[in-house]
Amino acid sequence: MNKIKIKKYDIIIVGGGITGTAILYVLGKYTNLSSIALVEKYFDFAQVNSNNTSNSQTLHFGDIETNYSLEKALVVKEAAEMVESYLLKTKNSNGPIYAKSHKMVLAVGDKEIKILEDRFKNFKNHYPKLRLLDKKEIGEIEPKVVKRRNPQEDIRAIMSEDGYIVDYKALAKSFIENVRQEPEKNIDIFLNTSVEAVSKKSDYYILKTSKEFIKAKVVIFATGAHSLLFAKSLGYGEKYFLLPVAGNFYVSKEKVLNGKVYTMQKEKLPFAAVHGDPDIHNINEVRFGPTAKVIPILERRNAGTFWDFLKTTKIDFKVLKALVKIISDKDIFGFIAQNMLYDIPVIGKYYYTQTIKKIIPGISEEKLKFEKRLGGIRPQLVNKETGEVMMGVGEIVGDNIIFNVTPSPGATACLQTARNTVKKLAKFFGGEFTFDEEKMADGLKR
Ligand SMILES: Cc1cc2nc3c(=O)[nH]c(=O)nc-3n(C[C@H](O)[C@H](O)[C@H](O)COP(=O)(O)OP(=O)(O)OC[C@H]3O[C@@H](n4cnc5c(N)ncnc54)[C@H](O)[C@@H]3O)c2cc1C
Repeated sequence: MNKIKIKKYDIIIVGGGITGTAILYVLGKYTNLSSIALVEKYFDFAQVNSNNTSNSQTLHFGDIETNYSLEKALVVKEAAEMVESYLLKTKNSNGPIYAKSHKMVLAVGDKEIKILEDRFKNFKNHYPKLRLLDKKEIGEIEPKVVKRRNPQEDIRAIMSEDGYIVDYKALAKSFIENVRQEPEKNIDIFLNTSVEAVSKKSDYYILKTSKEFIKAKVVIFATGAHSLLFAKSLGYGEKYFLLPVAGNFYVSKEKVLNGKVYTMQKEKLPFAAVHGDPDIHNINEVRFGPTAKVIPILERRNAGTFWDFLKTTKIDFKVLKALVKIISDKDIFGFIAQNMLYDIPVIGKYYYTQTIKKIIPGISEEKLKFEKRLGGIRPQLVNKETGEVMMGVGEIVGDNIIFNVTPSPGATACLQTARNTVKKLAKFFGGEFTFDEEKMADGLKR
């Protein structure tokens, strides 16, 4: 009987979104691993949540995200600065990866103003470019935020000129382009190739793909929500289930904002309150959102992933108990109920327009369009035992295998996640592995 020859790599990355491509970039540039494969099921990179049509295109620094504590904001700041340095140093041959934009968070009414002013005092030393603006100053930068606002309604904002609108798909492609220039590396990229199963045979993981079998000592799954599915197929991550939270956008084709404008957020909620973001590829178009609605699929515009959702989240007593715990919080319940309204035809648009009026009081329903082509799904991990919704990038580490699950702000965190993941490989490869973290830090210094 003929034995099938299986191609062997030091390491295989599954998933060609912003996380997988950033990991490949860091492995190719700063480690001594010489044979690396990346497997992506679609025809091109970043077709799911990292696509520029799926997310808000924000590089989050933690300064205007009012649900982040200072501690969390500083972690996000480090991540954003890594991407910022990369963007400022990289020439892209295929069009823009980013655009600079001012960004602000708006406080409406006395209660929010007090919270914002306190926050400004705590944050300004860590974010020296932040400014506190009064109504008149806001109006000079964003006239429509002030125009037609009730004169009794006071507003303030904290604002920085140093904001970035990022096309994360273009960034993913740039990582690939740069890593491909590395000499003496054998990097194989499999596009249009889906990983169907993973199994462990002695020292190797064998991946059954839609085209062939491949194997490696170490595997990293950067497949968004699907990472949990693969983890569970190997007996990892059993204590988690997934809440896929879809985010949709309403779009104004008219230039109603000059830069990014966020609103104040309730502390407990892991999702940003409504914000307006000019599109990098059409700066006159502003997307408002994202909404937040739990739906039982793992990938937007891919109904077939309903079955993957069922496999990932086996509904049992513990899952139901965790769900009851989550929705019995009155803030979360209110938030879910409100967001369900937004997607209902006709009245949804009316209600969302009322929400957007917090940013632009004079906006009318006719100016807004619910854009079906936009939006993605945030894969929120929930701990079955505690009912806790995990914030930020989730990571499950197994025996020579890592699974990354990446809700917002996962795109901002791409290089930080990549660095943290690559650091863990020393344990898997032992003394033969080197990662020049200093060179990476130097390479990403401004
Ligand atoms: C509405 C919304 C707004 C957001 N806004 C922001 C923002 O402004 N800023 C920010 O930083 N973050 C934002 N995020 C979060 C951000 O988009 C994600 O965290 C990030 O894109 C995740 O990247 P990823 O590479 O981990 O996952 P993905 O981009 O989902 O990539 C996963 C990849 O794995 C591939 N894959 C899956 N299964 C297989 C398989 N079996 N075989 C091979 N390949 C497979 C997929 O095809 C895909 O390419 C937002 C998210 C949403 C939903």
